[in-house]
Amino acid sequence: MKIVMLGAPGAGKGTQAEMIAEKYGIPHISTGDIFRANIKNGTELGKKAKSYMDAGNLVPDELTVDLVIDRVAQPDCEKGYILDGFPRTIPQAEVFTEQLAKNNEKIDFAIDVEVPDENIIGRMGGRRACLNCGATYHIQYIPPKKEGICDVCGSELVLRNDDKPETVKNRLNVYHEATQPLIDFYKAQGALREVDGTQDMKDVFAAIVKILED
Ligand code: ADP
Ligand code: AMP
Repeated sequence: MKIVMLGAPGAGKGTQAEMIAEKYGIPHISTGDIFRANIKNGTELGKKAKSYMDAGNLVPDELTVDLVIDRVAQPDCEKGYILDGFPRTIPQAEVFTEQLAKNNEKIDFAIDVEVPDENIIGRMGGRRACLNCGATYHIQYIPPKKEGICDVCGSELVLRNDDKPETVKNRLNVYHEATQPLIDFYKAQGALREVDGTQDMKDVFAAIVKILED
């Protein structure tokens, strides 16, 4: 089962992807998490990606696509995978689709988590991220058991640089311009499914499971 999560930044893609990955035993691949890990480890890729990310812009396609193509070729992806934050541009989606087609493969489900822009700013301002293991919380809606500490690995939780309100506005503009067209791209492939992302996270998850199992 190969799944792509679509939706605005802060729509809940990562939260749902993590739950789907656990239920179906497939890897959750977040390009944002991969870039953040590279920044933390001071790699060349991290150095190149950081300025784009901090400004809320997209990392160039040439730094992104090969990384994902290599990742999905790993043995743990044999049964499928869930992509979160990739593709984010039509060229990324085109190259990736062509690469899959070489092996007679395709994306089975592109799940668009729909949340209006008005709700996004509050979600991002309250998001707290663990830069060690990638877990995500919300101070109001999905709080950790102990304030400021990751339930999974015990590391400190942070407000991401790019979750500050002025950057969030730019990320939403970038989303509407560069990423939203992917909805039509996957609709044309017959893979698009839509869910209402404003519901409680458990209800969003139930809606996604229904789609995957229908
Ligand atoms: P994305 O991966 O799409 O950027 P996240 O999964 O990180 O989004 O979610 C953004 C923020 O909203 C996080 O703080 C997360 O805990 C919170 N969140 C996710 N799903 C819901 C939901 N259904 N209701 C309320 N808050 C949510
Ligand atoms: P995310 O964790 O998905 O919110 O991504 C955080 C940031 O990483 C984005 O704002 C981009 O700067 C960068 N990024 C993640 N995935 C991609 C991608 N597929 N293409 C370009 N930039 C990306």
